[in-house]
Amino acid sequence: MTDEHRLVRMDFDELTALLKEIFIGHGTSAFVADILATNCAGCEQDGALSHGIFRMPGYAASLKSGWVDGQAEAEVNVVSPSFIRIDARNGFAQPALAAAASAVDEAIERTGVVVVAIRNSHHFSALWPDIEPFARKGLVAISFVNGLANVVPHGGHTAVFGTNPIAFAIPVANADPLVVDQATSVMANGEVRLHALDNKPLPPGAGVDSSGAATTDPHAVLAGGALNTFGGYKGSSIALMVELLAGALTGGQLSFENDFGQCVGAQTPKAGQLLIVIDPNRGGLTDFSQRAAVLCKQLIEAGQDRLPGERRYKNRHTAQTLGIPLAKDTLANLLHLVTNA
Ligand code: NDP
Repeated sequence: MTDEHRLVRMDFDELTALLKEIFIGHGTSAFVADILATNCAGCEQDGALSHGIFRMPGYAASLKSGWVDGQAEAEVNVVSPSFIRIDARNGFAQPALAAAASAVDEAIERTGVVVVAIRNSHHFSALWPDIEPFARKGLVAISFVNGLANVVPHGGHTAVFGTNPIAFAIPVANADPLVVDQATSVMANGEVRLHALDNKPLPPGAGVDSSGAATTDPHAVLAGGALNTFGGYKGSSIALMVELLAGALTGGQLSFENDFGQCVGAQTPKAGQLLIVIDPNRGGLTDFSQRAAVLCKQLIEAGQDRLPGERRYKNRHTAQTLGIPLAKDTLANLLHLVTNA
């Protein structure tokens, strides 16, 4: 490793403060900067690298282009005791969800379940930071997000779906929550971009080029090509459902309607997010998290390597002890974003 690439370690709070400075420097409010910086530093800390600081130039470019409004104040509308509609007003989805935090808590307390439909919103990160906190409070949370059309439907040649992630968080007795958070494409678009940066081929079956022919070249996928959905037609059907739940039910845009148009620098997809939070104790079991623990133990005894989320928790633990590892040139790029706001 050359000097330029050597790792430095940064404390979570220190990295969050640096990212916050970049967000504010690119025109966000302090509220938005706080939420996005914590989210992004959290991804880096957990080793969710496709949505960590690698995303900062994209956030900065989108903000600078005027495509997304970093000052937006979401409009929260409680339309029934268990249904909250949020217009993010062309801002980011995470601060929109944060703006509804007390309404969400009240709805769950009153009815045991809440549906949160966010529209007119940009989501440029992983979903686990949105839902893990609910599971830490003993709740079950499910979320769906659509995005920018870069995934072909099964057997198709033209992108229609976004990478449309779907995520679940479940409380587990005496353990970290069980969190499953995955794209419905073979891989996340950020992973394709990381492969392109390293000139590394994608796994077989990952995507198509601009002519619709199968390719493992990340550059071809990014230059007018598209990814495939995971799991053949079954994954394609799940991506379709995510598209309808996140893009249509919320009143947001469908992924193929997303158009950066003439907005040079735009990178954050403007779409929708649906979130469902359930109090599992209303199901009649007072020990849901114990049942989840029993099942998790059974999986490991049956030979499963590890639980979903476990890799992130291990990384988090290590980073909390040793600091978050960053390559020196990555840190230099971040500092460049501070001075070039
Ligand atoms: P991965 O395929 O890396 O992981 C998906 C899930 O499977 C994770 O919960 C992961 O846990 C778990 N997992 C991975 N390997 C194993 C294993 N061997 N055994 C058990 N569980 C395992 O994720 P994707 O590449 O599909 O997605 C990455 C991220 O991209 C997600 O956070 C997603 O939200 C985000 N995304 C965001 C989009 C947006 O528009 N905002 C669009 C698309 C994706 P662990 O995390 O512990 O590895």
